[in-house]
Amino acid sequence: MNRKKQEKKLDDIWSALIKSISGFCCQRCGDDDTIIDPHHIIKRTHKRLRWTVSNGIGLCRYKCHRQAEDNPVTFLEWMEDKEPERMEMLNAIKRKGVKIYNVIELAEIEKDLKQQLKQISEELIPF
Ligand SMILES: [Zn+2]
Repeated sequence: MNRKKQEKKLDDIWSALIKSISGFCCQRCGDDDTIIDPHHIIKRTHKRLRWTVSNGIGLCRYKCHRQAEDNPVTFLEWMEDKEPERMEMLNAIKRKGVKIYNVIELAEIEKDLKQQLKQISEELIPF
């Protein structure tokens, strides 16, 4: 599998995981009767955080996700206020700088994300 495909696959698993963790409910306004988008708290161009589970939050597509994209500063201020420890951790990872994952590392990330997705699926559907 080439790198692009591998990265796309990781994006898909990460997205499914963030939606599950959010309980298919907007983590900002609480709406659970809408489409939930997984949002990267710190932009995914920071590859080090692209597939970090704690860097994801489920937001409703038509209100909160749009607001977060349009006003990233306001969104980050809200996050800092709501979850300062999480933001401190994410910023510490971001400060480590650029990271290019090799194929072995990408495969490890995939394994880890799949494991977490399996775990949360079992918690949601205990049968
Ligand atoms: Zn919302």
